[in-house]
Amino acid sequence: MMVLTRKMIEIRTILQKVGQTGALTLPSIVVIGSQSSGKSSVLEAIVGHEFLPKGANMVTRRPIELTLVNTPDSPVEYGEFPTLNLGKITDFSHIQRTLTDLNLAVPEKDCVSDDPIRLTIYSKNVPDLSLIDLPGYIQLSALDQPDELKAKIFQLCDKYIQPPNVILAVSAADVDLANSTALRASRRVDPRGERTIGVITKMDLVDPDRGSNILRDKNYPLRLGYVGVVCKVPHSSGLFSRQVNVLNAITKNENAYFGQHPQFAGESGVTVGTYSLRRKLMEVLEATMAQALQGTSDAIHQELEEASYEFKVQYNDRPLTAETYLAESLDSFKHSFKEFTELFGRPQVRMLLKQELDQRVLDILAQRYWNKPLSDLKKARLDEHPLSELAKIEPDELYWHRKLDGSSSALTKLGIGRLATNVVANSLSTQMDQLIESSTFRNHPFAKKAIQDSTNQILNERFYATSDQVENCIKPYKFEIEVDDREWSNSRENAQRLLKDELKACEDSYKRLRDQIGGKKLSSAMAFVDKIRSGKAPEMQEGTEALGFSQAMLEKGREGIFLRDRADIIKMRMLAVKSKGCATKDNKYSCPEIFMDVVAEKLTSTAVLFLNVELLSEFYYNFPRELDLRLGRHLSQAQIEAFAREDPKIRKHVDLQQRKQLLELALQKMDSLMALEKSKKAQTDPE
Ligand code: GDP
Repeated sequence: MMVLTRKMIEIRTILQKVGQTGALTLPSIVVIGSQSSGKSSVLEAIVGHEFLPKGANMVTRRPIELTLVNTPDSPVEYGEFPTLNLGKITDFSHIQRTLTDLNLAVPEKDCVSDDPIRLTIYSKNVPDLSLIDLPGYIQLSALDQPDELKAKIFQLCDKYIQPPNVILAVSAADVDLANSTALRASRRVDPRGERTIGVITKMDLVDPDRGSNILRDKNYPLRLGYVGVVCKVPHSSGLFSRQVNVLNAITKNENAYFGQHPQFAGESGVTVGTYSLRRKLMEVLEATMAQALQGTSDAIHQELEEASYEFKVQYNDRPLTAETYLAESLDSFKHSFKEFTELFGRPQVRMLLKQELDQRVLDILAQRYWNKPLSDLKKARLDEHPLSELAKIEPDELYWHRKLDGSSSALTKLGIGRLATNVVANSLSTQMDQLIESSTFRNHPFAKKAIQDSTNQILNERFYATSDQVENCIKPYKFEIEVDDREWSNSRENAQRLLKDELKACEDSYKRLRDQIGGKKLSSAMAFVDKIRSGKAPEMQEGTEALGFSQAMLEKGREGIFLRDRADIIKMRMLAVKSKGCATKDNKYSCPEIFMDVVAEKLTSTAVLFLNVELLSEFYYNFPRELDLRLGRHLSQAQIEAFAREDPKIRKHVDLQQRKQLLELALQKMDSLMALEKSKKAQTDPE
């Protein structure tokens, strides 16, 4: 058993995950030869299956890094492309098609690509080997194969035939060895023939004397020697099918051929047969691996040291995996969600909703009561009902009754259910977005979307039921509103506060405007606009300037007047609310500001009751569960990895840690392998 090769292949698989080439590359057998030298046939014989791209003009365009793994206990043979995620492929014609497609995918203009295709074949019929198939050398440039391709293939092969790789130089027996491109290439990098195995194919095409002479070659001696093979698969027999092991068929064929010629007999000193070749490859690779042990171990040591140092300096040795990162992020998000639920409860919903209704009330009253020109209103305040300070109900009492009922209806029939639910749902959404932004999830589009989707799903599911409930429960207020004294005095205060805030906002805007263009300028612009309005100045034509006022300045003047008038009206409204007449609910028809606030209060209290139960509690209960479904245990390992990698900082951390762990694992395997080798040596060599 070639334990070493097997273990080294395992280590190589680990090192490939580290993503390191160069110093960490372990020796492989590199197969070179001219086109049609029989290179593919030899490789397929070793594997036991046809699997390489064939067909007219099919030039191999990418190196194939072929790893053979012996699986003595498994009857199934299959291949895997470790970087392609195609799973186990048991049908070798499928492997062949995949390789053909990968070959064809190299753009014509690039000729060849040095990005290798990785293929691993698991079978009880293969030895543990690591082989690299390279594009065949082009002998004569055909019309459709440009010189450039020839040169690129040379470059590519040169890259791979460097030490510590073993070179398998394939030449056909019917071509003079002096013309073998493969041997010529090998001689350039391995002049003493230390790490080259010569394979002579098509031995059946030359006479046995000449054949055996080639194998004893004196002109080009190789330390590892030559092997003669006949790898022609007996296709035509009809007995051959993909189910039959190619090697068996070929060996049978070779035994028959070599057996009948004494030139190849055991004592002749030449090596023939694909089976012997296979054996030789195993031994040579094993020996080469043994030589590479120390160097590889040192290289891994060094890489590991660098990775460990970086890990310490950058991350203070803090362990982090994609799973723990996700779990921690999720926990901390749920934690801040919990805090949020405690801060956003009934009182907050109440305030939110009342503010919304306050604005509606202000608007409704402005439209229905305070819609006259200011000059008229000013007169009305002095001598007319109901805005006088006395607020007496006078002759057409009914008119004022209708006005108040209409205003109240305008509010209660606004669609309070939808409005209230919307206000709260929107606020929840916005606040969830803020929670995301202050969490680690802000750098993770995937998690962000999961949270937003969870939020929207629950809110959407609850929306109609909630708004119907709310609408139903406020229904009585559409017909009658009862007010008691306490409610009245409460609302009187509310109305005053609301108007005061409104006045302040209005005055602030006016101040900003004045600061922006200067007090004098604003006053004169406003005065001019006033004149236009009262007909004392001519209306301006669009685009012209009058008395030094630009259109833009006049616009500011109009804005100033609007704010000034609005402030005046608000002050009147405040006076009305404060008036003695409005001290009790008896005069409600003359105090719409207060009465409407009573309505808004009642609507708010009722709505909040149901919003709390139907929307808020439901959301608070369901959200963490929904989030678990989307970000919890149900995610696959690949999804979790992808998630963690979304954040570049985390990706670097996780990568470095993974790298360190893989190197540690590789080194550990390496150490036990070296210990094993040592004890083996001690046994065979008992000094
Ligand atoms: P590649 O281009 O170097 O991969 O060569 P192939 O393996 O495709 O072989 C080229 C041709 O030579 C094919 O038609 C094979 O059937 C044939 N061939 C390969 N090995 C032998 C052999 O040992 N004897 C004979 N007679 N033909 C062979």
